Amino acid sequence: MSWLCTRCLEEGAPRRPPRGTLLVELLLWLFLCWTVVIPLGYSLWRFLSRDRECRTCGARTLVPSDSRAAERLLGLDEEADDWDQDIEPAPIAG
Ligand SMILES: [Zn+2]
Repeated sequence: MSWLCTRCLEEGAPRRPPRGTLLVELLLWLFLCWTVVIPLGYSLWRFLSRDRECRTCGARTLVPSDSRAAERLLGLDEEADDWDQDIEPAPIAG
């Protein structure tokens, strides 16, 4: 599935970096390994709750390429174009 970045309008497959930091994960495993639950929970959270991130600008504001929002951003939404044409320019005073 292709995604569109709402910041730079780059389209493509997003990056899926793990959340949190490796350092915290290592420290948790080092000092709290006797509990197992806490470091394991952190590791699972890191890798299961990955965000989509733009490969070009790093923004996390991505929308599916085939969505209405993406079409509107790219100016492909025909209804949105019609709506724009209905607006009459305001008269300039003076
Ligand atoms: Zn971007």
